[in-house]
This record gives sequence, C-alpha cells and structure tokens, in this order.
Amino acid sequence: MTIPFVDLREHYAAIAPSIDEALKRVIESAIFIGGPEVEKFEREFADFCEIEHIIGTGSGTAALELIFRALPIKPGDEVIVAANSYIATALAASAVGAKVVFVDCDPRTYNMNPDKLETAITSRTKAVAVTHLYGQPADMDRIVTITRAHGLLLVEDACQSHGARYGGKRVGTFGDAAAFSFYPGKNLGAYGDAGAIATNDNAFAEKCEILREYGQTEKYVHVTKGTNSRLDALQAAILRVQLKHLSDWNGSRRRAATMYSELLSDTPVSPPYIQPNTEHVFHVYAVEVENRDQLRDYMHSRGISTNIHYPIPIHLQQAYSELEHTRGDFPVAEAAADRLISLPLYPELKHDQIEEVVTALKGFYRW
Ligand SMILES: *Cc1c(COP(=O)(O)O)cnc(C)c1O
Repeated sequence: MTIPFVDLREHYAAIAPSIDEALKRVIESAIFIGGPEVEKFEREFADFCEIEHIIGTGSGTAALELIFRALPIKPGDEVIVAANSYIATALAASAVGAKVVFVDCDPRTYNMNPDKLETAITSRTKAVAVTHLYGQPADMDRIVTITRAHGLLLVEDACQSHGARYGGKRVGTFGDAAAFSFYPGKNLGAYGDAGAIATNDNAFAEKCEILREYGQTEKYVHVTKGTNSRLDALQAAILRVQLKHLSDWNGSRRRAATMYSELLSDTPVSPPYIQPNTEHVFHVYAVEVENRDQLRDYMHSRGISTNIHYPIPIHLQQAYSELEHTRGDFPVAEAAADRLISLPLYPELKHDQIEEVVTALKGFYRW
C-alpha cells in the first residue's frame, strides 16, 4: 500500500458530480470574470468566516500584497513576520517596499513568539503579519494586546487555517485584515491559484476591491494604480462546492490528527502540542524527530510520502540575503526546519493508513 501526502484525485472523486455541474454552469453562462459565482462565493465564505467582507483575489500571495498596499504599508516601513512562516508572508511585504523584520517562533506551537515580537518593535514598525501555521491559531490574545499597545496594524496570514478558531472566534477576524489561499492542497482548495482578503472594515474592503481590478471604481475610470488580481468565476464555482464540505473535512483532519497523536504517544516521537482554547484545523500534521532526513528516505522506501514545512527558514533564504542573517539568529525556527517532518494528512486518509504510517515510524526507530 502506498500512502500519498495528500490525495487530490480522491478528494475530487468524492464530489465529482457537483463539481462537474458547477463547471458546466459557469461555462454555459460564459461569465468567466466576476459575476454571480464570485459574488456568491464571497458572501458564503464571509458567512463561514463570521466576517463582513471577503474579496476574492488571484492567490493568497496576491491577497497579502493587496492588503499591504491598501493599509497602506510604504517603502521603509517595517513589517514583522515569523522566520518560519511560508515565505509568501514576507514576499508580499517586500513587494510593497517594506523592510521585513523576522522574529522567532514558539518551540511548542511553531507560531510567532509574542515575547520575541515585543522586542522586535522599533519606531519604524508599521505592521505585524502573523501566520496561523499548520492550521493552529497563533497566540492572538497576546499578539492583539501588543499590536494595540504599540498602535500597529495587524494582518493575519490565514492561508493554512480556514475555519480554525481561537477563543471561539474564527481566525481572520482578529486583525485589520486577513489573507486566505485556495491553492489546491489547502484545507479549502481551488483547482488552480486563488485567494481572498477578509476584513470587517467597509472602507478597507472597498479599497481592496478597487486595487484588485486595475484601480477602477467603474469600467474605464481609474482612481489609483491598481493591478489585475481577481478570483475567477470557474474557481469560485469550484470553491462554492468545496465550501459546503469544509467543516466535515476539517473534522476528518482533526480526527486523523487525534488518531496519530494517540498512536504516537507510545513511540519516541512526541505528538504536536495543541494550544488550549483553540480549534486547530490541521492543514499540516508536523512532528519533530531525530534523523529526519533518514526517516524521510525510509518512509519513502515503504511507499509513504512525507513533506518538510519548511526546510529553510525565511531569514536564511538567498532571497533575504540583504538582511545578512546567519544561522543562530532564530534558533527555534532553525531547529524546526531541521527536525520537523509532516506526515500524510487529508480528509480521506483511512485509519489503517494512519496505523501504517505509525508502524513505519516505529520500524525506523526500532521501537
Ligand atoms: C499557501 C500560503 C501562502 C500563499 O498562498 P498562494 O495562494 O500559494 O499564493 C501564504 N502564506 C501561507 C502561510 C501559505 O501557507
């Protein structure tokens, strides 16, 4: 038996008739840009997120970039980002000319460490971009308190955490704006690139709508130098079908994670720490292990696909070499990059597959 890391074909097979019907509906309507599917998806996802506005975009990265442009973040402003986020959080801030300032993560949750955040704030800090990594909400009580105390803007990178809750509240509702990605492998995925901005602020939502569509308020009337980054109608129609299943799929991910954690409790591998008061949606089930790379090869030889999220922290990427960071600057993020391995996890993953993954892990460590 081979176990893939995620199985998008199985994911499609389970809902194929409704996806096919949705695609046909859009193609027959010949409304490919904007229109009812996009508007309905934006309304339905806003209701799901318990937020006022969802503005569809071309990708999660584009959503972040539009947010930074709309806030606005200007050249020379500092934006604080966790060193172990996916690089897109930082790239979007860089794209508007901001200086990215990295902070280390918490060794248990791998989310931004609020103590480190506090010490990274300078007179030039304009915003904090906090990622809810792997589907687990960051420590929002403390992060909101710190950003408010310093008068900073707060952006949530919710690209891995559709539907997660912190203190009963959906992620994406804590800051000034949030970005979602619908990259195919995300908890809510399109069949191509897609993303969205979430906000409760009416004026900010309008600004984002103008920016994503050539800076126009109406056709051929351009009030600002916007861009073209829209959610297309085919993707919106696909997302509307998938959204109906998202709560069930998140539930299946949580059950799979619980089963992994129970089985791992009797091995040398510690299950991931879950912060109390949160509803983790397990975009990724990552565990810290010894001899990670050898373990990965061993799993691969047994037909089990794993992944590394992420092998090189952002501050050590060549893309950020101008900041002259070196190994040792963010030791927790660096240790995580060296030691974490992500196990197969997707809604259709079966119990016997989870058992097989854990059996293989035990085999490697001769447990
Ligand atoms: C996926 C992801 C992004 C980027 O989203 P795209 O849709 O691929 O552009 C940004 N941040 C995080 C944390 C992500 O996981």
